[in-house]
Amino acid sequence: MLIFERSRDGRGNHMLPACDVEKYMPDESHLRSSAPRLPQVSEPDIARHYSQLARKAHGVNDGFYPLGSCTMKYNPRINEKTASLPGFTDIHPLQPADTAQGCLQVLKELEEALGEITGMDRFTLQPAAGAHGEFTGLLLIKAWHLANGDVSRTKIIVPDSAHGTNPASAVMAGMSVINVDSDEKGCVDVEKLRSICEEEGSAIAGLMLTNPNTAGIFDPNIRQITDIVHSCGGQVYYDGANLNAIMGIARPGDMGFDCVHLNLHKTFSTPHGGGGPGSGPVGCKSHLAPFLPGVTVEQGAEGDKLAFAKGEKSLGEMKNFYGNFLVAVRALTYIKTLGAEGLRQASENAVLNANYMLAKLRDTYDIAFGVKICMHEFVMTLEDMLHKTGVSAMDIAKGLLDHGIHPPTMYFPLTVHEALMVEPTETESKETLDEAIAVFRDLARRAQEDPESLHRAPVTTPVGRLDEVGAARHPVLKYDFGEE
Ligand SMILES: *Cc1c(COP(=O)(O)O)cnc(C)c1O
Repeated sequence: MLIFERSRDGRGNHMLPACDVEKYMPDESHLRSSAPRLPQVSEPDIARHYSQLARKAHGVNDGFYPLGSCTMKYNPRINEKTASLPGFTDIHPLQPADTAQGCLQVLKELEEALGEITGMDRFTLQPAAGAHGEFTGLLLIKAWHLANGDVSRTKIIVPDSAHGTNPASAVMAGMSVINVDSDEKGCVDVEKLRSICEEEGSAIAGLMLTNPNTAGIFDPNIRQITDIVHSCGGQVYYDGANLNAIMGIARPGDMGFDCVHLNLHKTFSTPHGGGGPGSGPVGCKSHLAPFLPGVTVEQGAEGDKLAFAKGEKSLGEMKNFYGNFLVAVRALTYIKTLGAEGLRQASENAVLNANYMLAKLRDTYDIAFGVKICMHEFVMTLEDMLHKTGVSAMDIAKGLLDHGIHPPTMYFPLTVHEALMVEPTETESKETLDEAIAVFRDLARRAQEDPESLHRAPVTTPVGRLDEVGAARHPVLKYDFGEE
């Protein structure tokens, strides 16, 4: 039921204080001709309406949510507590910096922590999401090439296994994409990369890479890869959206990367999935730092005051002011709560949990690229199951819903057919993993014995199979009042 259908004329709870200023009527031409059709509902009805809606969705607090390449991790409540402190919420972006020193300190400490975690020299916290960060990083690389008089470097190398946002960001940044294939292990084909760099040479702006890659594999040739790109004059960009496997253990800066973005809303614990707010800080080595967008926080000249600074060569603004500040507060809270040891432990547990599930499911499901040991996620390929039983990755994903489990990421990476990409994350208990493993195994058995039942799943959710194409092509975005 929609809130408009609950509406009854005259019902409601608007209790506005008496007007204590002189009334002013705007010009007639600025007045609307009829009152807005706002739903008229009482406060308990509103509360129930939204609680009921919330119960129809599945969130991290409702059950297992192994959505690969998204790191839907548990978000500790203390992050919310700090992010709602009045000192962080009741501020204005234009108020003088010396009246908001605590907020500047948050930005500065977060920048330093992210620098230490990634091995980068400076960060901008402006980008609002991962893809926005990629776009920012590519603009940094572009600005650096242009400043060197290297105007012909317009091509960016992207592996075929990359997140879809990588090639899209490259195009947004005015670059053209060269695809490099994966080898049979799902890693970058080093010989193919070498020949691309030899052929294209001075046209190469750089390489964008996710490591561990989207198949959950840490590329064993990573140093060789970054060296090859540097030797032809390119820059190397690290897609660090999901740092969950390596934070506290390995650093992109030490692998030879020049620039990186992180998704605070994945790895550093901010609720996401509902469309934001997110944060995709971009870090870089010192040679790219002069081009960073927005302002940076610097130690002021007069003693201990912090101040904003803007570089002369800055590429401009990627977003207004300082990015999504409260996401930064959550991330810093998370980092400080765990500490260096805790972050490392989170990574180790994320990898352990993924490998536990992988080991328990390997005899039932085919694993992409024959991976034996994975990082924080693994990819199953159900091509053979589809062939033999008619049950697809989609059917298994829908079947999981009937067991209160959110489906893994489906049909990604594109290099794997009938892919299901599972990322359990570090906070799930052995019991939760065991339950999920049992469900996965049971669904595989049903695929053999009763495939038809899986084509009909889910049957216990508020809605069954939806027309996803119809929803995307012909979305119904407004309520039809049925008059006019
Ligand atoms: C999620 C993700 C992105 C994009 O991040 P958004 O915040 O959704 O824009 C980019 N790359 C990888 C590998 C990701 O997992």
